[in-house]
Amino acid sequence: MSESTSPNDFAKPESITGGCLCGSIRYRANFPKDHDFLKMSGSCQCTQCRKNTGALIFMAHTVALKDFTYLAPTTTLKNFNATPGIQRGFCTNCGSYLYWRDESRDDLELAVGTVDAELLSEFGFALANASGNNVWCQNEIKGVTDGIVGKERGVKWATSSEEGTRM
Ligand SMILES: [Zn+2]
Ligand SMILES: [Zn+2]
Repeated sequence: MSESTSPNDFAKPESITGGCLCGSIRYRANFPKDHDFLKMSGSCQCTQCRKNTGALIFMAHTVALKDFTYLAPTTTLKNFNATPGIQRGFCTNCGSYLYWRDESRDDLELAVGTVDAELLSEFGFALANASGNNVWCQNEIKGVTDGIVGKERGVKWATSSEEGTRM
């Protein structure tokens, strides 16, 4: 096993499993051979994501809907729409936040903190390297979150990647 982990050399999963804190919601995400683990890994520091996750940075990994399946009935899964057309999926039993999704797109932004612990330990870099789009960086907390993403790799956007400006 390699001691170092770098953008050029890291372990890539073929699939991952995860779920909410209480275990009611369980999912599997498969990654096609050409999945770009660097580009698909990003973060958000908008106020909505902060309120929603309770964390200063929402670390996300983009997964295609066709590659995302639930492993158990999703009776406790609910979507909250803070913005029309944007879903934030969570478990109504334990409160875990699972994904952010633009309803017009065929993918979702998986909350990487919900990935099963042993897989996160093994493939955490592949899932959360932040080499893709890191958005709403104008909200960075000086001395706390400003050194976490987009320093040496990835793209920092002041607001969203669609209407924002690069920082
Ligand atoms: Zn739950
Ligand atoms: Zn956000």
